[in-house]
Amino acid sequence: MYLRKETRPVQVGNVTIGGSDQVIIQSMTMTKTHDVKATVEQIHRLEEAGCQVVRVTVNNEEAAAAIKDIKKEISIPLVADIHFDYKLALKAIENGIDKVRINPGNIGRRERVEAVVKACKERNIPIRIGVNAGSLEKHILDKYGYPTAEGMLESALHHIRILEDLDFQNIIVSMKASDVPLAIEAYKKAAESFDYPLHLGITESGTLFAGTVKSAAGLGTLLSMGIGNTVRVSLSADPVEEIKVARELLKTFGLVSNAATLVSCPTCGRIEIDLISVANEIEEYLSKIRAPIKVSVLGCAVNGPGEAKEADIGIAGSVGEGLLFRHGEIVRKVPEKDLVAELKKEIDLLAEKYEKT
Ligand code: SF4
Repeated sequence: MYLRKETRPVQVGNVTIGGSDQVIIQSMTMTKTHDVKATVEQIHRLEEAGCQVVRVTVNNEEAAAAIKDIKKEISIPLVADIHFDYKLALKAIENGIDKVRINPGNIGRRERVEAVVKACKERNIPIRIGVNAGSLEKHILDKYGYPTAEGMLESALHHIRILEDLDFQNIIVSMKASDVPLAIEAYKKAAESFDYPLHLGITESGTLFAGTVKSAAGLGTLLSMGIGNTVRVSLSADPVEEIKVARELLKTFGLVSNAATLVSCPTCGRIEIDLISVANEIEEYLSKIRAPIKVSVLGCAVNGPGEAKEADIGIAGSVGEGLLFRHGEIVRKVPEKDLVAELKKEIDLLAEKYEKT
């Protein structure tokens, strides 16, 4: 077992990554960063969904310049994603970025690395080293023949050493691969080799459906071992979906304390209501609730209330109506057409109660 809290804590704006069992949720915008209005709008949507740190691509001068204006409009830490161009990193730092994702071994001459490290030190800004199986250094690929966990670790250690030689330890590392077993192996090796916080991700994992399954398999395995201090689920979808998946994943391992959970039955021939629509509607509603309540939605009353004893509140379908129950006890009957509205009201009441405590 690798314990999350045994990593160093690294400060990213007002969020601490590592040094505790908390796992921070992050995502990346898909807007053109220089389009401040669209980028800020997307960040606000991400924030509302539960995103705690957000990354933007800084691929040109305009994007680096936009950092200043974006920062004014958002309250979560902002990360600059930079490939190769150290000048863009310097510009992003100057404009108030909270973290830089850049691989020091890829930015050329030592003076360039020194300049970035100096600027980060002055403002206490961490650097994320992003190792990616798909873009390993040539000498590593030549040595191993193809991307391996050993090669990925070698790459991470190479970049880490460059920063450590400049007395810089404000580091976070990711070991991404789209091959799930490879990513798991690489992250395990990283957790055994150094105590910098780990940013988890299964890169290019695919669409909402396939990517969710792959991410759950890979990140879930790592989280269950105590590995990972921040997660980014990568999906070919609206980034808000990435946050939803990440929250659900963390909830599964008891790593989110303010999220509501839905229990819904798999349905069978005993079903008495349109359970699938009810479950989907309630799931969407619960995604905005910031209280640890458990809600149960069951298709019939045969096993319903008994099966959902652990739920704070729930419904079980009956002919043309539903039974509303709390902790397995029936409270009242509600006509089927009012079921969702009544359940939402009960959820709000419970959430309010949590807010007050
Ligand atoms: Fe079937 Fe009722 Fe169980 Fe749902 S709660 S799976 S409808 S028996």
